[in-house]
Amino acid sequence: MPGDTDRSGGGRHAQPASVDRRRVLQASLITGAAVAGAGVLADKLLTGPEAAPPVSAPKPHPHPAPTTPSVTRPARPPLALSGKVVVLDPGHNPNNIYHLAQIDRLTPAGGFLKACNTVGTETDGGYPEYDFTLDVARRAKKILLAAGAKVIMTQNGHTAYGPCNDVRARIGNRAHADAVIAIHADGGPPDGYGFAALTPLLVDNADADNRIIIRPSAHLGEAVVRHYAAATGEPISTYLGAHGIQPRDDLAGLNLSLVPKVFIECANMRNAQDALKCTDPHFREAAAHGIANSIIAFVRQ
Ligand SMILES: [Zn+2]
Repeated sequence: MPGDTDRSGGGRHAQPASVDRRRVLQASLITGAAVAGAGVLADKLLTGPEAAPPVSAPKPHPHPAPTTPSVTRPARPPLALSGKVVVLDPGHNPNNIYHLAQIDRLTPAGGFLKACNTVGTETDGGYPEYDFTLDVARRAKKILLAAGAKVIMTQNGHTAYGPCNDVRARIGNRAHADAVIAIHADGGPPDGYGFAALTPLLVDNADADNRIIIRPSAHLGEAVVRHYAAATGEPISTYLGAHGIQPRDDLAGLNLSLVPKVFIECANMRNAQDALKCTDPHFREAAAHGIANSIIAFVRQ
């Protein structure tokens, strides 16, 4: 209560009596004054300019302290992805729709030609796949950076279109990525739902030879199935592949990759329930964690 403060005497005299008494005693010793009635004198001594105790300048120490501490701290354990390179490949590009001629151009796909890129799918409500893939990728990037990885994104919505699928594969190759995940959401049958990892099938022709990535990519796909399901609660696909895995040889991004790579179809945007999830930022955050956890688990194998 405010009145209590007033009744106690308040102000500068309200400090504990023990402190006052100690100061008085100190002052008495300094001045030689009698203890009795020395309170006023002590106040003057302690508040006046002469009250400051003499401060002697520090003398230089003949043996300066060593700059390194004698007790060394234990080294921090390295982060899960320290020294690792991860490429995130968000499907499509928000600006593809303004450059249809360019993205329809045929480009190498691993023994055949295929359109450079596409505009992707969207929900019935008009939420586009390219917004979903970019948002999930940006969220996953943050998580992976925090885990110590170097993270490269094949596109961040800032370019005119693309890149084309063959270029996306080359970005992972040039980076010598430890893992690449292409992030998509499917435009499947409306009664189908769930997610799937698309893994590379062997391609061996004059234009492409992806044999070195088949086995590690299969492991990456298995990690995706396990950790994406755990993070999101999304069921495995009812219509893509089996047990959440669909091997493919028609995707340039897999055919031309020389580093472990999978695609993930995070959900089916043409299914009403999955579409609701895709438009929910909490689901996208969970999806990002699922993708990041998959990469961490794969790299640690
Ligand atoms: Zn897509």
